[in-house]
Amino acid sequence: MKAFFVNFLPSFLVKFFARAYVAGVGIDCGIKKARDIWQDHKIASTIDMLGEEVTNQEEVDKIVQIYVSLIEKLKEETFPKHISLKPTSLGLDIDRNLCLSNFELILKSASKQNITVTLDMEDSQYTDATLELYKTLKPKYEFGTVLQSRLFRTKDDIIGLSGLNARVRMCIGVYNEDKSIAHTKKSVMKEKIVEYTSLLLDNGHKVDIATHDHKCIIRSLEEVEKRGLGNDSAEFQFLLGVPRDRIQRELIERGYTVRLYVPFTIEWRCAIAYLRRRLIENPSMIYLGGLDFIGRIFQPLTRRRKKSILPPKHNF
Ligand SMILES: Cc1cc2nc3c(=O)[nH]c(=O)nc-3n(C[C@H](O)[C@H](O)[C@H](O)COP(=O)(O)OP(=O)(O)OC[C@H]3O[C@@H](n4cnc5c(N)ncnc54)[C@H](O)[C@@H]3O)c2cc1C
Repeated sequence: MKAFFVNFLPSFLVKFFARAYVAGVGIDCGIKKARDIWQDHKIASTIDMLGEEVTNQEEVDKIVQIYVSLIEKLKEETFPKHISLKPTSLGLDIDRNLCLSNFELILKSASKQNITVTLDMEDSQYTDATLELYKTLKPKYEFGTVLQSRLFRTKDDIIGLSGLNARVRMCIGVYNEDKSIAHTKKSVMKEKIVEYTSLLLDNGHKVDIATHDHKCIIRSLEEVEKRGLGNDSAEFQFLLGVPRDRIQRELIERGYTVRLYVPFTIEWRCAIAYLRRRLIENPSMIYLGGLDFIGRIFQPLTRRRKKSILPPKHNF
């Protein structure tokens, strides 16, 4: 039923919802957006390519080539450079060794250019394989991965990272999962973000806190600051297009890195297919997109509020 409704949405409407979240078509659009937000607001980025699901090695090779070109083009840039990529786009569904060697190739060229890499997390059928990739390559390369607070297994996964000095993006996870393996209430998933942020910090890892929820950001920040670990033990990440300007500004003023997820596409068809899939998995995006569209209209009014969103540092 959900799939029927979403597939029935005309492409121009999907594109309407997508525009704010996608930097544009082509590598140069992704790079330009990343350059602009750094120059204008000192907001860092992680550039990611949105692609169709890959089904054969030829398609995987094409994606690897696009990432290699992205890395090559980023050579000229002076903003903090960071890319994210999905294991399935590197061939995880086709052959794990193919994925491993593709990913190593990308890590090698990225590290030569001082580009940081994060290995995205997809739905729960890929969690084991993604963490295996991470644990295999982390001793050789400095890069991060993602854990999802909705999954029951996440606490054990954090413990399984012991000794790796990992960098973990902590998010609720965009994929709807079965209630036998995952929490179903968002309030619980957000409680877990705070709990797992603390656990990661206590285990010597760095945390990228990826949520748009003000309360969850403030409570996670509290966990970072009460440990006195310094501003580089955590950063705060948001999706491009979700208006969180004030809290982002306040976090930057407090000395933290704020990073936006900046996806580009090679053709709109891919971005639309990707967004349709996201909408089927999570139809509340239509509602969230609508709310944020209204938020953008009223943002000039809320900017007049003087009171900060973040409590003063000594309160923690
Ligand atoms: C930088 C970054 C990287 C991510 N990487 C991954 C990953 O690798 N794997 C994975 O499974 N998930 C990933 N996610 C997605 C994440 O798991 C959540 O699905 C998403 O961030 C929404 O959760 P939330 O914590 O913001 O809470 P929500 O309750 O969903 O959102 C809080 C509020 O934020 C706004 N909002 C949130 N999402 C949207 C949206 N799409 N459009 C408009 N407004 C919105 C709304 O105002 C909403 O009320 C990533 C998120 C970010 C920010």
